[in-house]
Amino acid sequence: MSFDVKKIREDFPILQREIYNKPLVYFDNAATTQKPRQVIEAMEHVYSRINSNIHRGVHFLSDRCTEEFERSREMVAGFINAAHSHEVIFTAGTTASINLAAFSFGETFVGEGDEIIVSAMEHHSNLVPWQMLCGRKKAKLKIIPLNEKGELLVEEFEKLISARTKLVTLSHVSNAIGTRHPVEKVIELAHKKDIPVLIDGAQSIQHEVIDVQKMDADFFVFSGHKVYGPTGIGVFYGKEKWLEKMMPYQGGGEMISRVTLEKTSYNRLPFKFEAGTPNYVGAIGLAAALQYLRETGMENIIAYERELTDYGVSKLSEIDNLRLVGTPRERTSVLSFLIDDIHPYDAGMVIDKMGVAVRTGNHCAEPLMDFFKIRGTIRASVVFYNTKKEIDILCDAIEKVKQMFY
Ligand code: PLP
Repeated sequence: MSFDVKKIREDFPILQREIYNKPLVYFDNAATTQKPRQVIEAMEHVYSRINSNIHRGVHFLSDRCTEEFERSREMVAGFINAAHSHEVIFTAGTTASINLAAFSFGETFVGEGDEIIVSAMEHHSNLVPWQMLCGRKKAKLKIIPLNEKGELLVEEFEKLISARTKLVTLSHVSNAIGTRHPVEKVIELAHKKDIPVLIDGAQSIQHEVIDVQKMDADFFVFSGHKVYGPTGIGVFYGKEKWLEKMMPYQGGGEMISRVTLEKTSYNRLPFKFEAGTPNYVGAIGLAAALQYLRETGMENIIAYERELTDYGVSKLSEIDNLRLVGTPRERTSVLSFLIDDIHPYDAGMVIDKMGVAVRTGNHCAEPLMDFFKIRGTIRASVVFYNTKKEIDILCDAIEKVKQMFY
């Protein structure tokens, strides 16, 4: 392995702390990731050296801040290989990006009787905004079903496409059980009928190389906080040809070109979709996070995380009465499981006392839990600052749970 995990961990101040007098083992990465000092320092630099509202100022600080904000946009565009930086819109996060898409795309292109296709495995963020749109427009939501392993049935997806389909929207990786969906195939099939596809990349941007042009996604969204950046910043990428036609989501400053009391003309891309003062500190922090990943090397990260995930699957599979929920062929970094009939919340409480942070519950994917006929799971999500030793500690904590509840 060409990167040194010990050295990487030194970059993350929070990983040095103890919980209940035990070293912190942080496996709640799918909910949010920890931040390297490079990100914290980049944000401190803004507040302590260049803070000023962007775009409208003629003074030195405003100029510098605007420059760094726009450079951050270019950084994001480069990281996902967007054809143009004006295809990158800064939002508050994945949820905000999907709501933007549901409103702007929905108001522009979706009418009564039209159809949107979504999967049965979505985070509520990629389901509820489309339900709301369909409610507003009297449109129909069609659902791609899945199998018992937690994989989407692509053949069934093909059958759902009709002349009324306006958009397909799908997560790249399931946050609840880690399935990596065959988005390339879905996009290819949808594009044969000229239907655009939105990919929710909240759980993929940190685990694989994203090339929106190669993938040919029409829209790609993600949150900064899940990719080692700050909270309150996210990305809505859209192909220029769609963004040009879509109506703005919010009105206000920045998104206008000319305002009279009667009428407003809108600004060019990307500003048309960025009403109000953007989270420029967050954007600069996000760029620092992406730069950190670049320097670490995505190929190193991917190889190490694969090894760690495989180790986790094999260690957990050895534990008696432990059931992995979701056994997809293509899995990314998420291990979701149940220990016998012990309630995930009870198990999570005991695991926590061992200094291990896992998430318990339905993971904002209630329809998926309904499919498996369970209330929730215990979820450990691994990233490149985790270690095999930490997985062993999790396994010990699971044994402790069994001792307590048997
Ligand atoms: N989509 C997926 C797949 C997620 O995992 C999450 C968060 O867990 C979201 C959307 C929502 O992200 P955020 O809360 O950052 O807006």
